[in-house]
Amino acid sequence: MNSAISLVCRRAGCSGQIPSGLSAEQLCLNHFLDEAFVRTEQSLEACHNGSPLNQANLEWVLSDALAVVKNLEDSADAPNPEQRDRMLELLLVIANLHEYLAHHSVPSHRPA
Ligand SMILES: [Zn+2]
Repeated sequence: MNSAISLVCRRAGCSGQIPSGLSAEQLCLNHFLDEAFVRTEQSLEACHNGSPLNQANLEWVLSDALAVVKNLEDSADAPNPEQRDRMLELLLVIANLHEYLAHHSVPSHRPA
C-alpha cells in the first residue's frame, strides 16, 4: 500500500493537484503562490517598517519559493498562463526583497 503520499492540496476545501515540484509543501500551485505572496509581502513590510524580520519566513521565500518557481518554469507541469503571470509577479517581488536586503541592514529575529 502506497497511500501515505497525498497528491491533493492540504488546504481545507481544496482538491487541487500538487505538482511534483511542490510535493514537499503539499500545496497546489495556486495555494503555494498565495502563501509565497503573503510571506514575501510580510517580509517587505517588515523591511519598510524597520520591524524585525521573521527569519524563517525570509529563508523560505529566498530559497524554497524561488527554487520551486524556477523549477516549475521549466518543468513538464507547465502552469497555465494565469499561473505563469503570478509566478513572474512573485519573482519580481522576491527580487525587490532581495535588492532591499542587499542594501539595508535589517534587524532580524529567529523564532525560538
Ligand atoms: Zn490548493
